Amino acid sequence: MFITWLFHSLDEADRLVKDVVCGMEVSEDTPYKMEYKGSTYYFCCGYCLEEFRKNPEKYLSSESDDDLYLCGC
Ligand SMILES: [Zn+2]
Repeated sequence: MFITWLFHSLDEADRLVKDVVCGMEVSEDTPYKMEYKGSTYYFCCGYCLEEFRKNPEKYLSSESDDDLYLCGC
């Protein structure tokens, strides 16, 4: 019973995507999103969106987590 409920609720869960600016997982329902080079990027808050808008290549090219922006939310 419990297991069935658990799987059901996972199906219903929002799809999560990664905020490339701060590394947090955010729902695709977020109002903070931006299209860039044919892809849509999602952010946890307006600060991350603005940060990405200023310097998208920095966040798309960075493979390390060292220079993630700390949005504080
Ligand atoms: Zn963020």
